[in-house]
Amino acid sequence: MMMACVGLRPSFPQLMLLRTTGTAASRSAAARQPDLLPATLDFTDPSAFKVKSWTELLRALAVFRFCSFPVLVNNSAKLLSLARALVGGRGVSLLMRPTVYAQFVAGENEEEISECLEKMKLLRLRPMLAVPIEEDQGQSIGEKRYEDNMAAMLECVRMSHSNSWSTEPMMQLKVTALISADLCVKLTAINAQQPYDLSQVVRAMDGEMISFPGLNDSELAHFLCGLRRLNKIAEASVNKVRVLVDAEYTYMNPALSLVTMAMMKKYNKESAWIWNTYQCYLKESSSLLLDALRLSQEDDFCLGVKLVRGAYMDKERALAETQGRPDPVHQCWEDTNDSYNTSLDVLLKAASQQPQRYRIIVASHNEESVRRAATRMQELGIERDGGCVCFGQLLGMCDHVSLTLAKEGYAVYKSVPYGSVEDTLPYLVRRAQENRTVLQGIRKERDLMRQELKRRLRLKRHT
Ligand SMILES: Cc1cc2nc3c(=O)[nH]c(=O)nc-3n(C[C@H](O)[C@H](O)[C@H](O)COP(=O)(O)OP(=O)(O)OC[C@H]3O[C@@H](n4cnc5c(N)ncnc54)[C@H](O)[C@@H]3O)c2cc1C
Repeated sequence: MMMACVGLRPSFPQLMLLRTTGTAASRSAAARQPDLLPATLDFTDPSAFKVKSWTELLRALAVFRFCSFPVLVNNSAKLLSLARALVGGRGVSLLMRPTVYAQFVAGENEEEISECLEKMKLLRLRPMLAVPIEEDQGQSIGEKRYEDNMAAMLECVRMSHSNSWSTEPMMQLKVTALISADLCVKLTAINAQQPYDLSQVVRAMDGEMISFPGLNDSELAHFLCGLRRLNKIAEASVNKVRVLVDAEYTYMNPALSLVTMAMMKKYNKESAWIWNTYQCYLKESSSLLLDALRLSQEDDFCLGVKLVRGAYMDKERALAETQGRPDPVHQCWEDTNDSYNTSLDVLLKAASQQPQRYRIIVASHNEESVRRAATRMQELGIERDGGCVCFGQLLGMCDHVSLTLAKEGYAVYKSVPYGSVEDTLPYLVRRAQENRTVLQGIRKERDLMRQELKRRLRLKRHT
């Protein structure tokens, strides 16, 4: 096994070499062969929006206009509280349902979700259902709530595979919906001193009473229950739905990775059913990814990677500053971008060499990243819909990117949250703040939608 790994496992210097030469090489390759990619991947074709109804276009334009004002996005939580005080919860619900909610959320019940996903299927977009439940440090709830959350996740597994929406369904999972965030923080601190043995975590998932050092009786009991909950979800999804575990804050990510790797070790024997997320805005992201590649080879399991830039930049920075420690996030967007490109290159190379073993989702709204991935796929001979590389964007965002990619035959997933207005609004507020750079830079999508509306009006006038 180790012999087979040697050629594939990049060392850190190799990774750095890829970062400088690989980036330049692929850039010049793309420049040398302008016809390497379909012209539509410049994402300037408004016909991508032909499939949208008048209502959908007008709603999207109005919502994006709202989101283009930083003051509104930055204060959305306060505005929501104010609206609640003025018109009550029902009033807010009535206002949000046909607008923001309809733009970014699939619906509340299976019928509504089904309708949304059927529409997506016609557009060749695949669903990645997401139950918007998570918690942060200090918000821990009782065991019963985590059990309820598990039931909701199992329902998500069932819905994802029991319908004909997608041949290769995916879903997102937040570990902090199943194990308390406080315990994840503690596990992170313990594992920084002395990492737990992955095999022991796997045995605990199977129900064995393992005694993990550093935890008191109630923490240990909760950890064992949490591992069993994760195990139930993984067991229910294997061979049916690919489960993509979200990355959260640096003060708990190592714990999330620990349990995710344990699930991978147990369930990713034949294919990557469990995936982990790597946030390229972190200075340590390249080495975390290399560790994962190494571990997957040493422990002989398939690796699924969701590659993102990262959503919690402001909070990570503020926390580092108050705690007087170095900022974990790259200094500027360009460094994050370099890190994203480097990791993308490493993963695509690995996937081209062993497509059964590695799967990647390029989870980004950034057109340049998407184009880069498509170019590298072509250079490396990776099929557009061959199973090992796919693309991901959030529902309601950057449809011009998703629709164009899907039209060109790439596998494209939309992250699809669902739930009641009340349950999803806090999630939407957070997402809006996390993605405000994307939302505020969405001018191009708005322009394309306007062009499509003008085309329809001209057509109406001539008929
Ligand atoms: C399907 C899907 C799943 C996702 N899952 C997760 C997840 O599990 N965990 C998670 O954290 N995020 C997740 N995200 C969100 C993601 O991390 C990004 O926040 C979001 O996609 C915006 O990045 P971008 O590449 O799309 O856009 P871009 O506009 O190209 O990049 C914006 C991002 O660049 C980074 N950035 C911006 N300014 C700076 C700066 N000054 N210095 C350093 N970096 C900077 C930030 O990460 C910011 O979010 C997910 C996104 C998608 C589409």
